[in-house]
Amino acid sequence: MEVRKPYQLVSREWKQEDTTFTVNGVEIGKDLVMIAGPCAVENEEQIFTISEFLSKQNVRFLRGGAYKPRTSPYSFQGLKTEGLQMLRKAADRFEMAVVTEILSLDKLDELCEYADILQVGTRNMSNYPLLKALGKIKRPVLLKRGMSSTIEEWLLAAEYILSGGNEKVILCERGIRTFEKATRNTLDLSAVALVKQLSHLPVIADPSQGTGVRDLVVPMSLAAIAAGADGLIVEVHNQPAVALSDGEQSLYFDQFRNMLEPLKAAAQLQKRHFDFENRRQTTELTPGL
Ligand code: PEP
Ligand code: MN
Repeated sequence: MEVRKPYQLVSREWKQEDTTFTVNGVEIGKDLVMIAGPCAVENEEQIFTISEFLSKQNVRFLRGGAYKPRTSPYSFQGLKTEGLQMLRKAADRFEMAVVTEILSLDKLDELCEYADILQVGTRNMSNYPLLKALGKIKRPVLLKRGMSSTIEEWLLAAEYILSGGNEKVILCERGIRTFEKATRNTLDLSAVALVKQLSHLPVIADPSQGTGVRDLVVPMSLAAIAAGADGLIVEVHNQPAVALSDGEQSLYFDQFRNMLEPLKAAAQLQKRHFDFENRRQTTELTPGL
């Protein structure tokens, strides 16, 4: 079969129906997925407080960086193995799946031990040896768009993973570099709508890195769903003011909680449902959170 695109396996021409796969009881690509948590794992109390709050909202996917790619070498670099252990422990306690970033190829085995979904950050979208290695594993990969990458380059990066044999790829629009300085990045929601046409892979949006501004996260989350996104990855913190990374773009618990009803309504307009809408039996949780 001839596919008139530089990418093949990721294209809609190659495969018409949406790709879906199930993680932690959620059929990603069908149900809208909500991935939430802090930018970075900071200590056990922080990650437990946040994951308990999120699981009370029925969120099933916990994000949190243990290996952090920071612009400055003097910024907090993450708790590394210790952070992965805390993340896993918190996620297991609240029956959540772990989404965390793989920074380098040498940590692949370790990440596969602790994570349910491996996140490839914007700075690594063009790390081809890493992408090739991710094609050989069974874990799903959350592939962020490079901050200076075209849509075609992004889809070709996904092609590396699919051509290696791993079809479980979630694409994530997280904003691109433009001349604009009022926002951290320019969240390209036209890319979400377009990539949904070009590819059968699930596409989600990251309005936290995408705007860098807490109060823009709610409106842009709603806009992403209206644009056809298959879900969101959002930063939430129990104490954003003292967060060790990305506090200014992290939602307060109240903001997160209050966003869920409008998101449900946005999903309904798309004739879809969020994963957090399906109630499930969970362990006893501390009241008051
Ligand atoms: C993050 O999710 O905290 C992150 C570092 O993402 P990105 O690679 O999109 O900057
Ligand atoms: Mn972040």
